[in-house]
Amino acid sequence: MANCSQCKSFFAIPEGADDFAPGKGDCVRQEQDAKGKWYESKPVMGDMTSDKCPKFAQKK
Ligand code: SF4
Repeated sequence: MANCSQCKSFFAIPEGADDFAPGKGDCVRQEQDAKGKWYESKPVMGDMTSDKCPKFAQKK
């Protein structure tokens, strides 16, 4: 079963950062529409299941 830590949008929070917690990361994705591009970011846990996430993309 895939989880967020296997997704290319998952970026682990480095130890020492204010919001560090074991296994925690940020989900950062680029979005685009007719007017331009922007980034969406939200905190996620690496062990969260990604089965129901339509944006999951396997990390290479
Ligand atoms: S929430 Fe979805 S897009 Fe974000 S890291 Fe998890 S599986 Fe990937």
